[in-house]
Amino acid sequence: MTSTTDVRISAAEQVLRRVFGYDAFRGFQQEVVDHVVDGGDALVLMPTGGGKSLCYQIPALVRDGVAVVVSPLIALMQDQVDALTAVGVRAGFLNSTQDLAARRTVEAAFLAGELDLLYLAPEALASRTTLHLLDRGRIGLFAIDEAHCVSQWGHDFRPDYLNLSMLHERWPGVPRIALTATATSATRTEIATRLRLTEARHFVASFDRPNIQYRIVPKREPRKQLLALLRDEHPGDAGIVYCLSRASVEKTAEFLVANGVPALPYHAGLDATTRATHQQRFLREDGLVMVATIAFGMGIDKPDVRFVAHLDLPKSVEGYYQETGRAGRDGLPSTAWLAYGLQDVVQQRKMIETSEGDLAHRRNLAAHLDAMLALCETVRCRRAQLLEYFGQPGGTACGNCDTCLNPPESWDGTVAAQKLLSTVYRLDRERNQRFGAGQCIDILLGRTTDKVTQHRHDALTVFGIGTELGEAEWRGVVRQLLAEGLLAVEGDYGTLVLTDTSAEVLGRRRTVMLRREPERPASTRSSKPR
Ligand code: ADP
Ligand code: ZN
Repeated sequence: MTSTTDVRISAAEQVLRRVFGYDAFRGFQQEVVDHVVDGGDALVLMPTGGGKSLCYQIPALVRDGVAVVVSPLIALMQDQVDALTAVGVRAGFLNSTQDLAARRTVEAAFLAGELDLLYLAPEALASRTTLHLLDRGRIGLFAIDEAHCVSQWGHDFRPDYLNLSMLHERWPGVPRIALTATATSATRTEIATRLRLTEARHFVASFDRPNIQYRIVPKREPRKQLLALLRDEHPGDAGIVYCLSRASVEKTAEFLVANGVPALPYHAGLDATTRATHQQRFLREDGLVMVATIAFGMGIDKPDVRFVAHLDLPKSVEGYYQETGRAGRDGLPSTAWLAYGLQDVVQQRKMIETSEGDLAHRRNLAAHLDAMLALCETVRCRRAQLLEYFGQPGGTACGNCDTCLNPPESWDGTVAAQKLLSTVYRLDRERNQRFGAGQCIDILLGRTTDKVTQHRHDALTVFGIGTELGEAEWRGVVRQLLAEGLLAVEGDYGTLVLTDTSAEVLGRRRTVMLRREPERPASTRSSKPR
């Protein structure tokens, strides 16, 4: 028993050294490899850059038969196969981009037992031709990469992944390993259930990425703030900038280029050739900035991404963590920077309100957004909060996030919240006129703008009762009340409305602790009209 295990371990280690050229396994790679080589099922959760590939590539070489790797990353299959071929591993792929001749060659190699790894797109497994092909060969292992694509809540959902539960029924004797960088226990349970990985051993790595500095700043003029970040801290560095919309991707890329930063756009509205070219350039050239929607990034292995910047709020902590995880795979200091503002909350809440799907679906989206907002508004260490979200001990303050480096104050905002909610209440009674945050703040600050005089809002009892705070602070109050659900938005113009819990604040049954807005830079302050 011991001796056979020893022999196997050394077989795996030999492959690690001889084929891949590494001295030692990392983290729990070796445990996963041993378990899978022995024929066990595994569910592997490791952060991006953690080294998931070896967890199935080494068993693929040690076990008899071909390892079939299911991956949604069709655009990267050629690169993956080339990288393996370069170190002498016999690998091939079958997907829709390939011509018939190439396909026939791979099929023949598979049937002749001349492949170690065969990469397939998930939709291939819905085709009877492919299933028939697989039946005629000898399969030693199934690896399901990016396994979170089976989760219907995530933004990477691929319907074809649901079909993968049949692997177990059709090939009951073949071990399966599912891998992902998405870490919450909810996703983990969902993967195990949907893929029928009931017997699988779970391997969960630490999700801490100590070299990434997390920073979340109030959004003012996001493109200028971004440019300042790139000029001050990341001149000449490669990085990714995420925007919510295609239009904003285009504008931001143009803005950066106009300001001397080499940037390329990437979103699903660009044709496939342009996307492929931009992706290749980003991977191969130094110091390019990719401005993209979340369509970009999954499976991209570029070690020296020095920053990931978000100009819009991600929809979930899972998404935020995956996207920021693309920074600093080489272990060197990197920045995860997010600009976040009132408008983000308004926009995302509205998107959920108008989204398709049933109530349960909308509630789920709202719960994910709330966790993201809580991360933005926290006065605690961001990293500790992130890790705890993923079910890991947060530990003490990390010393490498904005709240650790520059601790924000929290203050008792109960009275401010009451003033704001009273204003919303007064405006809400003017049934046919609806007003957003701007009008409320003008009223609180006692500004006699045209819109204020026109609607006689200077006659309201709340007019001018909020001069102890500035405009930025008031926007912070609105944003945080929205984030906490003490205030809500409605309709196309972001009309503020009270919620069921607003009454608790108005009735003094609830205190509201708020995060103090950092000082605005002197230049913006002095140019601001009083
Ligand atoms: P993931 O798929 O988890 O994002 P990869 O499998 O692409 O990560 O691995 C990330 C990087 O780490 C790759 O460049 C890989 O070659 C390297 N790597 C993985 N395992 C080891 C190891 N045991 N020793 C040294 N480098 C490793
Ligand atoms: Zn910290």
